[in-house]
Amino acid sequence: MKREFCGLFGIYNNPEAAHMTYLGLYAQQHRGQESAGIVTWDAGKQFIREQKGMGLVADVFNERHLQKELKGDIAVGHVRYSTTGASLIRNAQPFLVSFGDLQLAIAHNGNLSNSAVLRAELEHAGTIFQTTMDTEIIVHLIARHMSKDGMEIEDAVAAACRRVEGAFSLLILANDKLIALKDPNGFRPLAFGRMGESYVFASETCAFDLLEAEFLRPVEPGEMVIIDREGLRSKRYCEPNGRSHCIFELIYFARPDSDVFGQNVYQCRKAMGAALARECPVDADFVMPFPDSGNYASVGYAQESGLPLELCMIRNHYVGRTFIKPSQGERDFSTNMKLNPVRSMVEGKSILVVEDSIVRGTTIRTRIKKLRDLGAREIHMRVSCPPIKYGCYYGIDFPTRSQLIAAQHSVDEIAKMIGIDSLHYLSIEGLLSSVQNPGDFCLACFDGKYPVAPCLGVDKECLEQIKGMKP
Ligand code: SF4
Repeated sequence: MKREFCGLFGIYNNPEAAHMTYLGLYAQQHRGQESAGIVTWDAGKQFIREQKGMGLVADVFNERHLQKELKGDIAVGHVRYSTTGASLIRNAQPFLVSFGDLQLAIAHNGNLSNSAVLRAELEHAGTIFQTTMDTEIIVHLIARHMSKDGMEIEDAVAAACRRVEGAFSLLILANDKLIALKDPNGFRPLAFGRMGESYVFASETCAFDLLEAEFLRPVEPGEMVIIDREGLRSKRYCEPNGRSHCIFELIYFARPDSDVFGQNVYQCRKAMGAALARECPVDADFVMPFPDSGNYASVGYAQESGLPLELCMIRNHYVGRTFIKPSQGERDFSTNMKLNPVRSMVEGKSILVVEDSIVRGTTIRTRIKKLRDLGAREIHMRVSCPPIKYGCYYGIDFPTRSQLIAAQHSVDEIAKMIGIDSLHYLSIEGLLSSVQNPGDFCLACFDGKYPVAPCLGVDKECLEQIKGMKP
């Protein structure tokens, strides 16, 4: 599974705003490794400064950027993996535009589910898009509400966000104003905190821990928090639409030391492992995870079942995203390069492997084969989430249904395909018993019940309607 999507960080009223944002992004690197960006409001020169680049936070920013160029005491930062829009520098965020006296930078985590229609509407009205990102739609809507309807920035942001649908946690820097906002379903996390005299926002609280900032509360679904020279205020820009927090943040994406949606990720993962042990015990010699994804659920499984936990799949911590492969031969070294089992531990043993999810099944198949090759007697697998059968329209990069192994095959067929003796997925009930406020979560990738109907494209009828609209 591609694990990256996006991470946000924002800070108001800090003399080292750029540096704090750099650290806040560093702590959230796991949320996006494709590009990184920081913008600051330079009050002296009255303009927004920016630095963006492809790659990791440590590669994109240097001492000079942080000390000399990114001046200002308000900053917004973003790490990105593209869920919509190609992997290009012009798609790196925060996305910055000028509009009259206003300079506006926007950082987005999530995915708009009605972007195709809105984009067609805006293009029909003469808008020229610079990027392929759905985030740019929000910017153009804001500009239109300001120019056509004469709205002030706060009202224009609110009006624009009432038109877009899907998942959006946003940080917006509008000259010297910082706006944080969450969609009415609250799909993605956004935490609000305080650090001395400064206010901070982050996708995950692990960023606050690094900065020793105090977590105050999450930004609520449908809420807009504005901080400017007049102080801090909060508004409801639209009615919340129930709560549909992405349960995959707890299963896989967020860092285990973060609290998201009011709960600690580590503890949720452990509870999922314990629920798995109750649902489907197995008589094995020991429990082991495929690191790092299965680590925390395997601790829960081992504690609940009383089986020993062994960490005998060894991870190479120095593997980058790519390495130079030999030009001759068909062998794929990438799986072996990342993980290697301890032969003397697996030989002749009955092993219970705990994984957090199976998407395509291809990587797992290779890892299981390796255990077999080293002489494992039996291999059982327990997965700490239900089968993923449907795509995600809210910012997680699952492949199409035709590539989702659980959408195409039964559990028994999957067990045969990946070469294991038994397979069990955590039930939806078991998953919900492992989290607090179980009614507040999106489960659409398991049950196909989408909390916000996805618009999959612009059909002919819709296009005719758009063409009939007054630009
Ligand atoms: S469909 Fe799945 S991955 Fe997407 S938001 Fe819902 S729970 Fe998260």
